[in-house]
Amino acid sequence: MLNLSMFLEDSARKYPDRDALVLGDARFTYAETDGLANQIANLLVASGIGPGDRVAISCPNLPWFPIVYYGILKAGAAVVPLNVLLKGREIAYHLEDCGAAAYFCFEGGPELPIGEYGREGFHAVESCRTMFVIDGAGGDGATSLSEVLPLQPSTFEAEPCEATDTAVILYTSGTTGQPKGAELTHSNMVMNAIAANRLFDSTPSRPDTHLLTLPLFHSFGQTINMNAGFSVGATLVLLPRFDAGAALEIMERELITMFAGVPTMYWALLGAVDDSVDVARIAANLRKAISGGAALPVEILERFASRFGVGILEGYGLSETSPVALFSDPEQDPRAGSIGVPLWGVQVRLVDRDWNTVEGADAVGEIAIRGHNVMKGYLGRPDATAEAMRDGWFRTGDLARRDADGFYYIVDRAKDMIVRGGFNVYPREIEEVLMTHDAVSLAAVVGVPHERHGEEVRAYVIPAPGTEVTAADLIAWSKERMASYKYPREVRLVEHLPMTATGKILKRELV
Ligand code: AMP
Repeated sequence: MLNLSMFLEDSARKYPDRDALVLGDARFTYAETDGLANQIANLLVASGIGPGDRVAISCPNLPWFPIVYYGILKAGAAVVPLNVLLKGREIAYHLEDCGAAAYFCFEGGPELPIGEYGREGFHAVESCRTMFVIDGAGGDGATSLSEVLPLQPSTFEAEPCEATDTAVILYTSGTTGQPKGAELTHSNMVMNAIAANRLFDSTPSRPDTHLLTLPLFHSFGQTINMNAGFSVGATLVLLPRFDAGAALEIMERELITMFAGVPTMYWALLGAVDDSVDVARIAANLRKAISGGAALPVEILERFASRFGVGILEGYGLSETSPVALFSDPEQDPRAGSIGVPLWGVQVRLVDRDWNTVEGADAVGEIAIRGHNVMKGYLGRPDATAEAMRDGWFRTGDLARRDADGFYYIVDRAKDMIVRGGFNVYPREIEEVLMTHDAVSLAAVVGVPHERHGEEVRAYVIPAPGTEVTAADLIAWSKERMASYKYPREVRLVEHLPMTATGKILKRELV
């Protein structure tokens, strides 16, 4: 019996008055956070939702995210966090695919009208019966959370789940196609958070103060900041929208000890340091800096260490592995450019296309992972699961080499995934949308190097005969239909695309 929600419950019992969540001037103690999560759980049970159900949430990094996430877990249901930048059509796809029984959605505002897109998605899916609006009005089939939550009791006995029950479903495209839900169990998520704390030497007697700006709908921030933090009574200072100046200001004011980010965030932090920043004060408190999600350029690592006096620890993982699989171990000699060694309890081998192990120092193979962090499989997709997993081993689609001392280095992504500003962009999904445009005959999307975002999305389009369309038309059209991190910023109209004999587009040649 195990429920990931015990992290919050346990810390609320031990440190009720400690701050769990901070947003600007608002502070929520562990007791308050747990009480609100209990109200969410009671609300769900009163709505007929419990074990076996799935509940989706679209919410930026506000205190409501952890509160709702933990409330859903307490009720025994699985949490399905959605990317906050999804538009109506995309939200409907996710709600339908996971069979969501209920949906929590933040109202947002003119800048980020999450509520508007959320309602559009919700109304398109008949099987999703209930929608709760966070910080917004009800009506049109949706219920305002602020109207119903205060009626619920703030105590709740969490549902005892099996360790192998699904706790969280994270949508990812894996190596191919449409987004698929990676089913992560209570055991997967609990073990990964505990392992992370062990790695970072975070204990209840030395509680960290995290700057939490990684999006909580993604596994990196979810495990490393939220779950690992809650398990030891840490304080999470939320910064919903990453801004380097604001991040430095929070580090200084809140005496941040722990920061986790993607490489472009480190790049931006270094660029934002000016005379107004008390670097010495930040450096005196900062104990751990963690990078993951994309390859960390060695130059950034070195510049950060010399500026803030802290070496960045680089980790590697995927949604399917909860996410941490390898880490540069602070106890060992961390090597620049390396993703380190396997997390304890996690096995890693490099394989060829036929799952044969690639032997020898510096030989390149695809990373395969087995251990307590590996998902059950992709929700409702036995074929995709069978393709990615064999005998408990999960193949990642990432190519790496291992040096003679056992340290791993990412060589390249075998898959075509584009990482734009820390967000994963899946070319095929964009190609499919583009090809619904009347004037598009064929589209190929690739990532091209970009100084600020790491990679930028570029589409090559062969126009349909007899049509007239400009690159600017297609960019504007795409912007209407896709989340802002996804739509191609560059479109090139071409007559031909390089192809293999079997008709596969040779994307490497395009880049
Ligand atoms: P996600 O499922 O969104 O967590 O994305 C996982 C992918 O991010 C992996 O398959 C890698 O391609 C990439 N990734 C994660 N960590 C690293 C890293 N340290 N270096 C290079 N790529 C990484």
